[in-house]
Parts: sequence; C-alpha cells; structure tokens
Amino acid sequence: MNSIAATLLMAAAAPATPVGSPVPPAVAAAPAPAPDFALDGELTQGGWVRGTVPPGTVALTLDGQALTLDREGRFIAAFDRDAGTGAVLAATLTDGRQLTRSLAIAPRGWNIEHIDAARRPGGPTETFMALRRPELERINAARQVKADSDGWRQHFIWPVKGRISGRFGSQRIYRGEPGSYHSGIDITTGASGTPFVAPADGVVVLAAEQPFTLEGHLLMIDHGMGLTSAFLHCSQLAVHEGDRVTQGQYLGRIGSTGRATGPHLHWGMKWREARLDPLLFTGPMP
Ligand SMILES: [Zn+2]
Repeated sequence: MNSIAATLLMAAAAPATPVGSPVPPAVAAAPAPAPDFALDGELTQGGWVRGTVPPGTVALTLDGQALTLDREGRFIAAFDRDAGTGAVLAATLTDGRQLTRSLAIAPRGWNIEHIDAARRPGGPTETFMALRRPELERINAARQVKADSDGWRQHFIWPVKGRISGRFGSQRIYRGEPGSYHSGIDITTGASGTPFVAPADGVVVLAAEQPFTLEGHLLMIDHGMGLTSAFLHCSQLAVHEGDRVTQGQYLGRIGSTGRATGPHLHWGMKWREARLDPLLFTGPMP
C-alpha cells in the first residue's frame, strides 16, 4: 500500500472533522502501567515488609488485617516468629477493584536446646504478682500510645556494638515441654555502663525510673505504625516518657537490672502483636 492509499484509508476511517475544529493529537498516550505494589523487606519469620501501595488505593489489608497508610501510600507490616509461610496483601482501589500480592514467608531454623530437666515448677507467687501487675499495666498502656513517628521508615542502626550473646527466637525444651522463646537479641560489651543509642527515630512511651521486677530499667520507644523497640536491664536511662528521640541519640547505659545474669542490652522489637528479630532491621553486627 502506498502512502496516499494509507492516507485515504485513514481519512475514511476517521470521523468527519468539521473545518476549523482542532485536530486531535496524532500520538496516542502510552498505555498506563498496571498498578502494582512496590515492596522491600525481609520476608521471613521475625522479618518485615515495607512498601508503597498501587496508585488509587483506598484500603490495604494483610491477611484480612487492616494496615495503616501514610500520606504517600507507604506502609509497614511484619511477621511473627511463628508466622505461617504465606501472607496476602490486598489493596482496594478507588473503583472497587482489588489487587492482591502473595508473599512467601521463609521459615527459619531456631536454636533449640533440649534440657534433660523438668521445667521450673510452680507459677508466680502472690507477692510477685502484687509487684508485677502495675508493671504489666504500664507496659500495656505504653503499647496503646500509637505515637506519630516516621522512625519505622528508617534503616535501623545498632543501639550498641558488642558480642551477640543471645539470639532472637532461641528456645529451651525441658523434657519435651517448650519454655518461652527468647523474644529479642542480647548484646554484651563485657561491662555495665556502656552507652546505647536510638536505633531509629521515635517517641519514648515507657521509661521505668524504678526498675521493673523482670525488665529492670525498661525503655520502650514507639517508631510509629505499630513498630516498637524495648530495651531491658539498663543501668541508667537518659530520656523520659513523651520525649521525641532521633536515630543515634544517646538513650542510656546498659546494665543488669531486673532478671539478668550479667550486664547486657536485651533489645526486643514488635509490630502490633508480632515479635520480631531486630537483626533483620539492622543487618549483621559490624
Ligand atoms: Zn535477652
């Protein structure tokens, strides 16, 4: 077909254009890419996912649980130590369509120690519980704060450098009966009094001026979006409840207050009720 014939065909196919009316643009707009999630994370037990929802998202769920979006459509979700091997993100778009993304959550091998002894018998005494109840109330109240902070978006740094003397998730089994697993990471510097810093921005939601029975001088930081850090056994705290802290800011000194066998910093992290491995937020100890 020569070019004149092509022009004629096009003219025949196009609707008649009245003389003098504007000519529509000849180049069609490139088709818009299919909306999709942008994701980053450590998709494993004790890990996390951060991302941005597809444009036009009005609501987001993870396995049916509603997630919070910031103004730019960013979010975080995380996976408990005992999370299953799959999770589904579902975004509801303005037009009612639903876009889903299946996440494969890699299982991990935990450090399990079999102890040929019975678990320590007996529950807590009434004397202990009288001390413990108000402490638990403060911990629960701190978890309800839901501070406004962007710390959850940062790459976390180590609060203190040292030897990792206890790993997240490790567990003892006493003659077949599982004890509770280690809910954080222990960092030892060999001495009490080593300063530690904020791994990310946040708001102090609990600072135990008097040592708690188990946690000692406990410090809890809310990084926003349901992500929290807890630091246990401190010998000294340098911040107070309600303080806004920034990544790298001096928070206090490590110690052995509460139930601890020696000076170390126990760092626990949670997203909502899920217990997380801080190592998956920082990368390996330098
Ligand atoms: Zn610990």
